[in-house]
Amino acid sequence: MSARPAADVAAALKEASFDADRCWRIRDLQVVREEIKIYLTDGFLIFSKPVAGQPVAALFVTEVEGGDGEIILMPPSAGERQSLARFTQAPNLNEHFKSAFFLFTDGTAAELEAAIKEREAKPSPEMGALLANEFSATLRNLSSSFEIRLIHDLTSEVNPKMGLFFAALGGTAHGNFDVIYDPQARDQIVAGQIANRDNRSFYNIWTSFQTRRVRQDPALEPVEQDLKIEAVTIDAVIGADLQLSATTTLKVRIPDGEAARRVRNAFSFDISRRVRVREVKIDGKPATVLQRENLRSNLLRGNDNELFLVACDEPLAPGEHTFEFRQEGSVVIPAGNGVYFVSARGTWYPHHGLQFAPYDLTIKHPIHLTVVATGDVVEERLGEDYRVTRRRIAAPVRLAGFNLGEYKKTATSRGGLQIEIYANKSVEAGLASARREVLLPPVQTLPAPRGAPRTPLSQVILQQPPPDPTAQLGYLANEVAEAFDFLSKQVGPPPLKTLAVSPIPGTFGQGFPGLIYLSTISYLAPRDRPAFASDSLQQTFFSDLLVAHEVAHQWWGNAVSTTGYRDEWIMEALANYSALLLLERKRGVKAVDEILIRYRDHLLEKRDGAPPLDAAGPIRLGARLESSESPGAYRALVYEKGSWIIHMLRKRLGDTQFFAMLKEIYTKHARQRFTTGDLRLLAAAKLPAGAVDKSLEHFFAAYVEGSGIPALTLRAKIAKTAKGATVSVELDQAGVAEDFSIDVPVEIDYGRGKTETRWVRTEGAHTTAAFTLTALPLKVSLDAKNTILATRP
Ligand SMILES: [Zn+2]
Repeated sequence: MSARPAADVAAALKEASFDADRCWRIRDLQVVREEIKIYLTDGFLIFSKPVAGQPVAALFVTEVEGGDGEIILMPPSAGERQSLARFTQAPNLNEHFKSAFFLFTDGTAAELEAAIKEREAKPSPEMGALLANEFSATLRNLSSSFEIRLIHDLTSEVNPKMGLFFAALGGTAHGNFDVIYDPQARDQIVAGQIANRDNRSFYNIWTSFQTRRVRQDPALEPVEQDLKIEAVTIDAVIGADLQLSATTTLKVRIPDGEAARRVRNAFSFDISRRVRVREVKIDGKPATVLQRENLRSNLLRGNDNELFLVACDEPLAPGEHTFEFRQEGSVVIPAGNGVYFVSARGTWYPHHGLQFAPYDLTIKHPIHLTVVATGDVVEERLGEDYRVTRRRIAAPVRLAGFNLGEYKKTATSRGGLQIEIYANKSVEAGLASARREVLLPPVQTLPAPRGAPRTPLSQVILQQPPPDPTAQLGYLANEVAEAFDFLSKQVGPPPLKTLAVSPIPGTFGQGFPGLIYLSTISYLAPRDRPAFASDSLQQTFFSDLLVAHEVAHQWWGNAVSTTGYRDEWIMEALANYSALLLLERKRGVKAVDEILIRYRDHLLEKRDGAPPLDAAGPIRLGARLESSESPGAYRALVYEKGSWIIHMLRKRLGDTQFFAMLKEIYTKHARQRFTTGDLRLLAAAKLPAGAVDKSLEHFFAAYVEGSGIPALTLRAKIAKTAKGATVSVELDQAGVAEDFSIDVPVEIDYGRGKTETRWVRTEGAHTTAAFTLTALPLKVSLDAKNTILATRP
C-alpha cells in the first residue's frame, strides 16, 4: 500500500471540476447505502475528473422532460421517525429531487459507471460541457465541507467499505438538504439541513441513526481511537499582544490489531478555530498539516473546534510515537476595562477524542497578568517583564485549561481541599454599561418657587458607580468551598484537591479539571446584576446554582465522562442536580421543590404560538435539540428536565440508595465512558424490594427516550367493606402522545402519619384501577410528594 502525499491530494481537490466527457443521459440507476435508497429515475449524470486516481464527485440533474430523482429513507425507531416528522411533517423521508450532488470515497463512481455501461446509456458531452461550466465551482465549495475527511480517506487508501458517501439534494418539497452515509461515524446515517433563524445558523439534524447491519452486529461499530494519548506537554508563550504560541507534545501509542480497519498515516485532531497549527513533527520528522474552516462541517460539529489532519508518508508502526505541534492563535480575548478571558468553546491545544492523560504545562506571560491554570506549581521564574510558571497534573485528566487577567485573589481550604478564587479588579465593558441606572423622583418636599424651571424626570438619574467584582470574593470563596466539600463527601474525594475559580464574561460557566470559569455575573452582588439577569429564576441560577453546578463538573463531566451527544445530558443533569442537593441542604426541601416546579412550567411555557421547549424532543437528542425550530431547547432540557429525571430516580430509590448510586457512578465509571444504559442499570439495581418497573425500562422510555410532560387528574372512590375498604381510581392523562405511559404513585393516607403508596400505570387518556385495603383511608391522592414530572389541576 503506497500512501499519497496529503498535500498533493489537497491541491487536486482545490482544482476539482466536472468532466464534460464523462456525462451520460441515464434512466433508472440507483444508489443504495444501507437504509438510504436513491433513485436516479431520469436525467443526466456527470462525474468529476479524477482526484488521487478516482472521481470523488458526481452530479445528477433532471433537466429533461419528465426528469425525476427520488430518495427514500425510513428511520428505524419511533424516536427517529418523530424527529424527522418534526422537521418534514412526515415520519419517513420520501422526496423527489431536481438535483443531487454526490461526494464519496466509497467507490460510488465505479459502481455507477458499471451500471451505465451495462445499460448502454448515451454519452452527452454537450450537456457535460454545460454542467461542468455551471457547477464545478459548487463542487469545489461543497467538497471543502468534507475536505479533511476526503483527504484522510484518499491519502490513506481507506478500505472503500469504510469510505464516505454524501449527497446534497435539491428537494421539490423541502428544498436543499443533506444525506450522509459514513461507516466511520457512530451514527452511520444522518439526514439534515442548514437553516437560519434570528441571524443564527443551525444545522437541523432531521434524523441520525446506526444502520441495521451495525445494530445487528456491534462488532461493526466504528473503532473509536486510532491512537491513545499517554502524556501531554505544553510549552506556551503569551505575548504582550495576547497572542498565544505554543508547542504541544503528545506521547501517543498506536494500538496493534484490526489492521484492516485502522488508518495509520492520517490522523485527525480537534482544535479551536482561533488557533492555526503551523507545523507538526512525528518522531522528529515533518508531517503534513491540513487545516480548513467550513460552515457546514462546523455546524455539524456543534462547537468552536475544527478538525485538522496530520498525515505522514509512511504508515506509523504500532507502538509509541511522539507528535509535536507548533501552534499560534488568539485564544485570549480582551473584554475591555482590563478584563481578559480564554475563549471557552474551543480547545486551545490539539485534542483527539476523549482521552485521560497526565499533563506538564509551562506558560510564559506578561508580568502584569495573573495566569490561573490546572495543576501543581513545580517551577516559577521571574524575568524583567514576564513570568514563567510550570505546572504538573499527575492524575490523568481529560483537559487542561487556563485563564488570565488582572486579578485579585483569595484562598481558603476546607476538609483538606484548597480553593483559590480570582476576581477581575473591574467589570468588563459589557457589564459596566449594562449596569442598572436608578431613576429618582424629583424631590417634592418644598414647592418649587414660582417661575423656577421644573427638573425633567429624565435628568434625575443617579449614575451608580460601576459594580465591584471583588466585593463578593469572600462570599464566593465560601460558596465554592462549601460546594467542593459537600460533593466530596456525597460523591467521593475529587481527583484534583485544588480548585481555582476565575471569571469569564457571559452567562455561563465551564468546569475544567481543577479550574472553573465562572460567569462574571455571579461575581456581582444581586443588586448590581444587569436587567436580563435580575428575574428571580435567573438570580437563583447566578447566586445559588451556577457555582455548585460548575464545581460538580469536577466529578460529572471531568472524572466521569460521556462521549457522543446522546449521553451528554447525564453530566449536565447530574451537575445541576448536585447544585440542587446543596441548595436543599442550605434552604430546605421546599426551596428545591419550588425550583423544580418552575423548571416544569418553563419547559411547558407557550412561546408566541410556538410549541413549548419540551416539545423539541427526547432529552437523548442532546445537541440536536438546539435547532432552528427550538432555539434554547438544549439548555432547558438538559438542565431542567435532566434535573427532574435525576430527582425522580432519587424518589424511586430513596435517599440512602440514591447517594450510594452517586458514589458508585464515580468509583465505577471514573475515566470511562458513562452511558444512559449504565445509569439505568445502576439505578435499577438500587430500587427497593417490590418496586414497580424493576428494570426502569418503562421510566426511561417515557422520560429519557421519549418526550412529553403529562397533565394528570385523579378521581378516587372509597367504599368501606367488612374487612377494610376498596378504592377505585380513575386517572386521566392529557397533553402527551397516546402511547406515553408512566407509573404514577397514588398515596393512601390513613391518618396519624400512616400512609401507603400504590402504583398505577397510565394507559392512554384514561386508566382505571382498584385496590383492596385492610383499613379505611382518610384520603387518596395523586403523587402527594412531588415525585413525578407532570402537571395536575
Ligand atoms: Zn454544566
